[in-house]
Amino acid sequence: MTDAEDQLIAEAERRLGAKAVITDPKEIEPWVTDWRGRVHGAAPAMLAPASTEEVAEIVRLAAEHRVPLVPQGGNTGMAAGATPPADGSALLLSMRRMNRIRSISAENRLAVAEAGVILATLHEAAHELGMRFPLTLGSRGSCTIGGLTSTNAGGTQVLKFGTMRSLVAGIEAVLPDGSIHNGLSGLKKDNRGYSLDQLLIGAEGTLGVITAVVLRLVPAIAARAVAWAGVESPQRALDLLRFLEARTGSIEGFELVAEDSLQLLLRHVPDTRAPLSGEHKWHVLVEATTADPHHDISAELERLLAAALEQGIIADAVLAASEAQAEAFWKLRDTISEAERAEGQTLAHDISVAVADMPRFITEASAEVERKFPGVVATGFGHLGDGNIHFHVRAGSHAAPGWYETEGEAITRFVDDLVTAAGGSISAEHGIGQLKRAELARLASPGRIHALRAIKHALDPSGIMNPGKLVP
Ligand SMILES: Cc1cc2nc3c(=O)[nH]c(=O)nc-3n(C[C@H](O)[C@H](O)[C@H](O)COP(=O)(O)OP(=O)(O)OC[C@H]3O[C@@H](n4cnc5c(N)ncnc54)[C@H](O)[C@@H]3O)c2cc1C
Repeated sequence: MTDAEDQLIAEAERRLGAKAVITDPKEIEPWVTDWRGRVHGAAPAMLAPASTEEVAEIVRLAAEHRVPLVPQGGNTGMAAGATPPADGSALLLSMRRMNRIRSISAENRLAVAEAGVILATLHEAAHELGMRFPLTLGSRGSCTIGGLTSTNAGGTQVLKFGTMRSLVAGIEAVLPDGSIHNGLSGLKKDNRGYSLDQLLIGAEGTLGVITAVVLRLVPAIAARAVAWAGVESPQRALDLLRFLEARTGSIEGFELVAEDSLQLLLRHVPDTRAPLSGEHKWHVLVEATTADPHHDISAELERLLAAALEQGIIADAVLAASEAQAEAFWKLRDTISEAERAEGQTLAHDISVAVADMPRFITEASAEVERKFPGVVATGFGHLGDGNIHFHVRAGSHAAPGWYETEGEAITRFVDDLVTAAGGSISAEHGIGQLKRAELARLASPGRIHALRAIKHALDPSGIMNPGKLVP
């Protein structure tokens, strides 16, 4: 521990009390490794403020002593953005004690949640009022509002409601000089120049500490219909989406699944079975929802799928006959990564290209990767309607200890080159963190890198906010 860290920790304890300063290595240990267990860090202390004022106090001390802070929510991020450096040169700033929902109103359709509120807790609070917060993801039981906002998270409802960026109506944050930005007014119109709120969304803790967020709510769902369809190709899947969207505003989920992924999960995940009897090269999970109790959403989706079948867009489809079957369909989609892990080594790439280009990208990029690295298996699944898929490459016959270190890097660079050549993004929803920083530096345009650095330097000249993350 450096003298500066020592002084900061002592001063923080004096001002904020022992509860806010954790130095027991056993308590810190679970929080210094990223969710995937790929990056291991160290921190001499974990600071745990309980209010915005306490965060401001800590940030002022950090600025004074020039000690970097690594903000952390649920530590479920996929890019190791919340993992401190291994040399112990930064302190963890856990936001989990700031976990109050300050207000929630069905009339305003807004909730003000502190940064440490767990997503599932917000879902429950909204549900009690007949409302919902329309963003969900697999980590909802652990991830926090601050982390979701800082990574501009996506999930399975982006098609209809957008990413966090469209669901955030205002932000309260502590800036790197310790001042408090209060953007909680929930104003629908505010054109006082640059939007600090928008800058903080997706900033991954590099521009300040988010302490509370105003979130948009929508009416709760009255009913949903979930279907599984078999299609010939990703292009046919996209045709289906456009066909449905032209006829209803109810489509909320639209997930592409490759036959290869389905076979893997049927092999590895207990209690799973294929929804359709015949063989199909590709599959689509469709969810339609309605907030209107008089709207027969199942009948509507069934009718539309029958029309799509008649027009040859899909080869077959089945509508979930019960909520349990709907859950079983979603389980198939949600356990693909788990099945891949059980099968062996897999490289994950969270990428996006223009929606219309995605079918061709999936087909061509998979073929190119498999040609360049014979023996591996490449496939894409996920949010086709957002132009965002998880492009995964399994080691296949190349599986061997150290595959990630040897061939893995070359494969990822190859995939990222293909994405960049297609005008896409090497990070669709997971952020850059530390895992993708080198690739961002390699592939981003000079203008983008210059702007990122200039903004970072303007707001955080001493570099105390999450150094070594995001900004190349
Ligand atoms: C099973 C599973 C499924 C997932 N599915 C999806 C998915 O579908 N879509 C998706 O987008 N992501 C997904 N994720 C990734 C992850 O859940 C999201 O990135 C989430 O937003 C991270 O929230 P967190 O609270 O865990 O943040 P953390 O991991 O703690 O932090 C993430 C980043 O935000 C910063 N940060 C955290 N809190 C603050 C704060 N208050 N102020 C400033 N900076 C802060 C951290 O420094 C770090 O850079 C999934 C993860 C898991 C484990």
